[in-house]
Amino acid sequence: MQDYNLKRVFYIFAVLMLLVISYIFYTQSDLNRVDTNMVPIVIMILISAFVVLLFFDYLFKSSNFTSKKAVEIANINSIITPYKSDITLSDVAGLEDVKEDIKEIVDFLKEPGKYRDFGIKLPKGLLLVGPPGVGKTMIAKAIAGESGLPFFYQSGASFVHVYVGMGAKRVKELFDSAKKQKSAIIFIDEIDAVGKSRGDTNSDERDATLNQLLVEMDGFDKESNIMVIGATNQIEVLDEALLRAGRFDRRIYIPLPNIKEREEILKLHLKKKNYHLDINRLALISTGYSSATLATWVNEAAIKALKRGAKSIEFEDFDSVKESVMVGKKREMILDDGEKKIQSSYQSAKIFCAYRFGYDFDKVTLLQKDIVDTKSNFQSKQYLFNLIKLYLSGDEANKIFFDESYTNAKDDIKKARELAKNVVDEYGMGESIIPSGTDIAQLLHTAQAEVNLMLKKDKQKIRKISEKLLEKEFITKEDIKEILN
Ligand code: ADP
Repeated sequence: MQDYNLKRVFYIFAVLMLLVISYIFYTQSDLNRVDTNMVPIVIMILISAFVVLLFFDYLFKSSNFTSKKAVEIANINSIITPYKSDITLSDVAGLEDVKEDIKEIVDFLKEPGKYRDFGIKLPKGLLLVGPPGVGKTMIAKAIAGESGLPFFYQSGASFVHVYVGMGAKRVKELFDSAKKQKSAIIFIDEIDAVGKSRGDTNSDERDATLNQLLVEMDGFDKESNIMVIGATNQIEVLDEALLRAGRFDRRIYIPLPNIKEREEILKLHLKKKNYHLDINRLALISTGYSSATLATWVNEAAIKALKRGAKSIEFEDFDSVKESVMVGKKREMILDDGEKKIQSSYQSAKIFCAYRFGYDFDKVTLLQKDIVDTKSNFQSKQYLFNLIKLYLSGDEANKIFFDESYTNAKDDIKKARELAKNVVDEYGMGESIIPSGTDIAQLLHTAQAEVNLMLKKDKQKIRKISEKLLEKEFITKEDIKEILN
């Protein structure tokens, strides 16, 4: 824009100069005789005009090439184009519960009128929460594919800029482009890059970007049929404002695949290949693998089989590439048989507590970290105290069942300590209203002793939960009910 204006000024100036020169010639000359005194003056005018033109030309060029900011502005003004997704739910293996939720959302998107006529508000934002590689992007594409809506993809990181206001501008661009479509899916991958809680680290640029995102989400008119889907693997760092009603108020948790799901995912990726192996055995030895890792595993095994000149892929091919596929993946999630037993009793103690304390949950997997949603407005002292007990229960189970402590308790112990500190320091719920370290320690010790007693009393039942969890790698509230009664 700036460049265009400069160019225009430059041409107008040149034309004006020409007019002035011709006027001087006209007034100073007789019809066929030029006044010789005027020649040096005209030459002077021509030279100064030339210098001025050179100056403008320089200004024009410098604004064009030397300012990085100008280049960035130019890029931002580009329209963001959507694409048509050809992925459907049948491409997504496993995740049956998730698919049920998705079908409902697709129905909303396909027939918004049906819901509106009934006075139902359509969800605007959907947050897909889960570890990397479990299919969040794939699910977002499947929603677009199934509903036939244009799909806008942006990564949260692409909004993060050095210049204040630049990210916000990009967000606006994205939403403006989508609004032109009337119906569309906007997918923001790794939304935590922009959606991080404001205030913890001071960044004007990120705050401005996040504010713009909030403004855009609030600003849809009733008629537009646009759904914003965000993906993150750390919902706990997201700003509260993003999770409020009317924004990302629908959340779907996507866990790592369980044993049955791993079998289905392996089957899907092996579909067009020749293989001679027991897929169930592969599923058994891949606890903690994400769907994406399983896909890579199949591919690497196929390459291996091809290299050795075999006609079909065999178990040995999978076994020999197992280590290399896992390079760079988080080790703590991949468990051998012994570790699985420890994790299973650890998790069972937590599930047992969640059930006894009346927390809301449907289904918990072997590796799921947060088994209850703890974000609510008002929390009682009793609720928070029970939550501390829940966090400490796994560690107590390690001691009770294995007479040992293990590092799998690390994250929960940290959470218990932080929560106890908040209870005493921030909420003033300790023995005294004045914050004190002794109060925090006292709170943690009492919680630990109480949960230890509670677990010991129902040791056999927790063992049963653990066996079931080990077998299926997930357990439902119904299963727990059955075991406990
Ligand atoms: P995320 O967005 O959670 O990081 P992606 O959706 O990008 O994960 O998944 C990466 C790849 O893993 C996909 O392209 C696909 O090949 C495979 N994949 C993930 N989930 C599934 C699934 N449920 N069924 C089949 N393949 C899957």
